[in-house]
Amino acid sequence: MKTILTSLLAILFATLFAGCNVPALPTVSPPPPAATEAPAETPAHTVTLTILYTDDEHGWMEGQSEGAGAANLLGLWQKQFGYDPADPRFLVLSGGDNWTGPAISTWFKGESMVEVMNAMGYDASAVGNHEFDFGLENMQYTISLADFPYLAANMRNKSDGQISESLGVQPYAIIDAGGLKVGVIGLANIHTPKVTNPANVQDFDFEPYVETLQQTAPEVRAAGADVVMVISHLCNQELRHTTAKTKDLGIVLFGGGHCHESLAEKAGDAVLITGGPYLQTFAWAQLAIDPESGAVVSAKYDVEANRGGPADPDVAAIVAKWRQETDATLGEPIGYLAQTLPERSEPMLKLVTETWLLGYPNADVAITNSGGVRDDLRAGPITIADIISVMPFDNVLIDMKMTGAQIEAFMDAQGKKVFAGGVHQQGGHWELNRTGEPLQADAVYHVLVNDYMYAGGGSYQKLAEYDPEGYDTGIDWRQPVIDWIIARKSTPEQPLDEAIRALGK
Ligand SMILES: [Zn+2]
Repeated sequence: MKTILTSLLAILFATLFAGCNVPALPTVSPPPPAATEAPAETPAHTVTLTILYTDDEHGWMEGQSEGAGAANLLGLWQKQFGYDPADPRFLVLSGGDNWTGPAISTWFKGESMVEVMNAMGYDASAVGNHEFDFGLENMQYTISLADFPYLAANMRNKSDGQISESLGVQPYAIIDAGGLKVGVIGLANIHTPKVTNPANVQDFDFEPYVETLQQTAPEVRAAGADVVMVISHLCNQELRHTTAKTKDLGIVLFGGGHCHESLAEKAGDAVLITGGPYLQTFAWAQLAIDPESGAVVSAKYDVEANRGGPADPDVAAIVAKWRQETDATLGEPIGYLAQTLPERSEPMLKLVTETWLLGYPNADVAITNSGGVRDDLRAGPITIADIISVMPFDNVLIDMKMTGAQIEAFMDAQGKKVFAGGVHQQGGHWELNRTGEPLQADAVYHVLVNDYMYAGGGSYQKLAEYDPEGYDTGIDWRQPVIDWIIARKSTPEQPLDEAIRALGK
């Protein structure tokens, strides 16, 4: 994005400031020098960089509500900050988890979201755990489509300890921004192997954050960076901790992600920002930087809602194109059934819960509400539209922790209103399918539930009471069902029925 010819930029600047599109936010100017301050120490001029920051977009290019999609966010940035992707004084950065969410993103394995982010002018993204969801080959392909780099300085090959550049992941990027060279270092979450399919990350180590920055920040400076920033898939707590332990490195900005929180605060000389999930909100920071020393002279920062932005026509057109492609796939057969699966029957509920566990093997047990299953799956060809009809709600999967005793108590209290996969009843107690062992009362298990049950929807006991820190996987609850059906490659001659009966055995 910063490779446009200088002359073109000059024209763009002129147009920007000559037009009526004046940024609503005033440009940050340095505070007036204190009376005691020697004039020689006052920077002659500063360069103001505007950082626009999102994370955990999860493919919500259409927005979760009307007027809160990617096109609106770009329109809001244009209206409020005078943002132009070609203007080098802007840096658009992401904390990762760009895809895995609604069908418009997930069915195209991230490709659609990358096209949207290219058009929005993103400069870099950290590597989130969900970037691995569709396997390494796909990740490499999707990264190759991006006009911006994916960064993770702490992701190393187990084989040789090197950064996995063959995947297209880089430790850092140096971006020309407003005459400054900005070194942007990426950090992946060290818990990545626990929150994606472990098979996809078995070849990598995720190194500790502080040590990684201690090693990488000097490298980035040696490579010419005037200013160093960090973008990461770190929750706010980890981000604050990492910032506190790396004060001496002179990093001016830390961006976070992963826990679906937002943040805009100062810690020492550094600004910490996290945008929040699904493009519903974003964070921004304006840093006035002394180009001589690279020091931040003054800073403004905040988190705001994606509200009131006029839809950018180019991004709106890209989103509309992917919507059309999504709708076209709805009617295509993905499998065949010889006999109708009645709604809320045991095989139907097994199809739902056991495929969740296959799609997210980190969990031991999967619990769903029978009432969320709203239609039969009829004999004959199965389409994605049929799955949506069976599971009409836009739920996502939450990975929460429960003890064996809590699982048993919950299942006994709810009776037939809920169904559990990954376990079966045996002589009055529950056994884990994987081990054949009874659930241990004190042992902690990972349990997948839909976000409706987690929040205590309907008359269910609020599962969040057992674990308020449940992890929002961002995975649409239908996706593992669809993925499993497609992978079976069933035909009218070899229908799915047998494989469904064998689930969980
Ligand atoms: Zn994440």
